[in-house]
Amino acid sequence: MKALRWHGTGDVSVDTVDDPQILEPTDCIIETTLTAICGSDLHLYDGYIPTMEDGDILGHEFMGRVVEVGSEVQNLKKGDRVVVPFPIACGHCHYCNTDQYSLCDNSNRNGEMQAEAYGYAAAGIFGYSHMLGGFDGGQAEYVRVPYADVGPMKVPDSLTDEQVLFLTDIYPTGYQAAVNCDIEEGDTVVVWGSGPVGLFAQISAKMLGANVIGIDREPERLRMAEQFAGSATINFEDEDVFEKLKGLNDGRGPDACIDAVGLEAHGLGLTGAAQKVEQTLKLQTDRGTALIEAIQSCGKGGTVSIPGVYGGVINHFNIGAAFGKGLTFKMGQTHVHKYIKDLLKHIEAGDLDPSYIITHKAPLAKAPELYETFRDKKDDCVKVVLDPSW
Ligand code: NAD
Ligand code: ZN
Repeated sequence: MKALRWHGTGDVSVDTVDDPQILEPTDCIIETTLTAICGSDLHLYDGYIPTMEDGDILGHEFMGRVVEVGSEVQNLKKGDRVVVPFPIACGHCHYCNTDQYSLCDNSNRNGEMQAEAYGYAAAGIFGYSHMLGGFDGGQAEYVRVPYADVGPMKVPDSLTDEQVLFLTDIYPTGYQAAVNCDIEEGDTVVVWGSGPVGLFAQISAKMLGANVIGIDREPERLRMAEQFAGSATINFEDEDVFEKLKGLNDGRGPDACIDAVGLEAHGLGLTGAAQKVEQTLKLQTDRGTALIEAIQSCGKGGTVSIPGVYGGVINHFNIGAAFGKGLTFKMGQTHVHKYIKDLLKHIEAGDLDPSYIITHKAPLAKAPELYETFRDKKDDCVKVVLDPSW
């Protein structure tokens, strides 16, 4: 089959590899009909995640048709059309039983590498390095899906692939980020980043009753924030974000702040309030500028919700501001399995059309150039989807 493989920083190619096989009786094999490039893939592409190996198949946002099931699979049969959550979850450990699927104890077979670094290991993730299980990803013609009775969700034929694909990750991720803000009607929620995750965080916060402000510097993304999510917007290159936000709520500032940027995969360096923290406290900070600014800008007693991905150690994190204002932090990989059934209902009801954010659709063969287009935001790129059968 054809698959998109990682060979080093900024080096991916579509190669011919062996088809995946059923390895466990609980596995199934899916023929991918549509897959997407995620901001999280950029962390791998840009070389921020150290446990990648030459030849790893990327991709954790994918859907398709079941072509083979293992002998113990009960809920799926050949021909079923499914979306697949990006975290791999066993469905029966302590964490799965408490709806914390992305913390599954059993799915990360190489978990000791992560446990050594972090204390414990989280769930495996498709196409996301050996620290997260070393699973082949879905930017390929076929994928092996472990725990097939737990993750894949059947989707109705009345909806197109483009409408349901983002249930695999970015829609639930934006939704969990908003839910984590404990929104009450009329709250002000500010979202750093109006990329795919930021856009779904914004529309979800709006649907939960918040007044939403979206931040970015890319004109097409800011336009989508206004039109797709109904947000007010700030271009962080034109305005001082902290100054602009501190007048909200009669000077109390935002009720909640969402960091939908994560690791600086774009080499922007420090901006805005993060620069000020560094100068005032004479600290050196090289990453996490959106997070620092979100902490600095959040109102007293507020919540900082972090769907943006971080790894390793971020030095000089402004814990003083967080402590002084009594902030609450919520973060982590998304418990996709927990939310997808309800979010599918919103799509079926026409409350939103996730396909709105797709700007590029191409055959899998074009993936290498589209990684670059997406990373550099060329050609007003917001979200790329790839069709392996094309
Ligand atoms: P993206 O890279 O397309 O979007 C990030 C956006 O942030 C860009 O539009 C960029 O211009 C903007 N930005 C950069 N610096 C900024 C700043 N200082 N202030 C405001 N905006 C800034 O990526 P995406 O696909 O939207 O993903 C966003 C983040 O969410 C990534 O870190 C990704 O890894 C993470 N993610 C997390 C989960 C999860 O389970 N928690 C799932 C999916 C993605
Ligand atoms: Zn993703």
